[in-house]
Amino acid sequence: MGCKMVKDLLTDYIDEELNQELRSEITRHLDSCSSCRELNESLNLLTGQFRQIPRAEAPGRIWGQIREAITTKEKKHFLPTGLVEKKKKPTGKR
Ligand SMILES: [Zn+2]
Repeated sequence: MGCKMVKDLLTDYIDEELNQELRSEITRHLDSCSSCRELNESLNLLTGQFRQIPRAEAPGRIWGQIREAITTKEKKHFLPTGLVEKKKKPTGKR
């Protein structure tokens, strides 16, 4: 199973909505893949927090936001160079 599939299934995995076979495949992947393991841990933290909130928010929306956060996190790799260059501002001498 590849990272993309694991990431797609992680929320179901945490909610224990997957069958035994898929669960063990994901568990095995998490053992060998640190990036998916980190993602699993942060999702676990988030779900833990949400479970303490009595059904106030629609879970669908929350998962949408989490997925968005994950995508944003992945895109951040492209940011640093642009930011560094912008910091160099020309010193105006007279
Ligand atoms: Zn992975």
